[in-house]
Amino acid sequence: MTAKELLQKEAERLGFLSCRISKAEFLKDEAPRLEEWLKYGYHGSMSYMENHFDKRLDPRKLVPGARSVISLAYNYYPEKEITNTDNSLPKIAKYAYGEDYHVVIKEKLFELLDTLRLNSGHIDGRCFVDSAPVMERSWAEKSGVGWIGKNSLLLRKGEGSFFFLAELIIDLDLPEDSIAQDHCGSCTKCIDACPTGAIIQPEVIDSNRCISHMTIELHGALPNDFKESISPWAFGCDICQDVCPWNRHSKPNKESRFKPGPWKDWTKVDWQEITEETFGRAFSKSAVSRTGLDRLKRNITEIDF
Ligand code: SF4
Ligand code: SF4
Repeated sequence: MTAKELLQKEAERLGFLSCRISKAEFLKDEAPRLEEWLKYGYHGSMSYMENHFDKRLDPRKLVPGARSVISLAYNYYPEKEITNTDNSLPKIAKYAYGEDYHVVIKEKLFELLDTLRLNSGHIDGRCFVDSAPVMERSWAEKSGVGWIGKNSLLLRKGEGSFFFLAELIIDLDLPEDSIAQDHCGSCTKCIDACPTGAIIQPEVIDSNRCISHMTIELHGALPNDFKESISPWAFGCDICQDVCPWNRHSKPNKESRFKPGPWKDWTKVDWQEITEETFGRAFSKSAVSRTGLDRLKRNITEIDF
């Protein structure tokens, strides 16, 4: 079995939907697009996006000696959506229902890297899950994990977009895979459904207008102009994914650690009277804890439920 075959077999055993390879090289097509996006301030309050411009575009500057970028996808689509029909309860984006994906997936990446090392000897490399300057969607598209949809998320034919992306950047040469075809066609459902007009053109999101950014990243008060549209989202936003026809094919994940926490049974009063203690019990292991109680409380109180 070749190193690539072993890698893909082990990735499948660990539950990844896809595991594909790109050559570690400068992302020449993405450079002007990233520059433009930053120039217009579409990164909103994520000032960290301005840092490490070179490393973001060239994995060899991030991991010296890098030869291959391995892109992986891991399903997070839940068994059941946590919602109520009249939108009188705060909503949490599906990706944050269970335990923090950074932790769950990183453990799997380390296991994958260990298997490769056992087979191929010493390998230098690093594991990434949405945690460093890596253009994860570009790498995933380049290697054919899926295509970047008009909502700027990665989509897979027959599977949709409710999955996390992760990368291994290593100094081992592996045969590269080819780019996936775009299957958005003439559809514009995500652009039409976005309640704040954040998808300003296909694949370009103005974070200043995006509910996900406003509820998770933004410090200070929520912008008055958008408060009505933000409701009922208290953490993130799934609208441009929920309307995507490809997501009709989403299947529930099999990851026990992604099961929703005790907040799934909370009443309106539980949300309104959230305390440090109840927040800790419900979200201490979740990605919501990264945003913290203060910002979650701000979202709940500033949006009128
Ligand atoms: S996450 Fe929500 S606000 Fe952001 S682009 Fe998608 S639909 Fe619009
Ligand atoms: S809703 Fe339509 S345009 Fe938007 S990502 Fe899905 S297929 Fe593409």
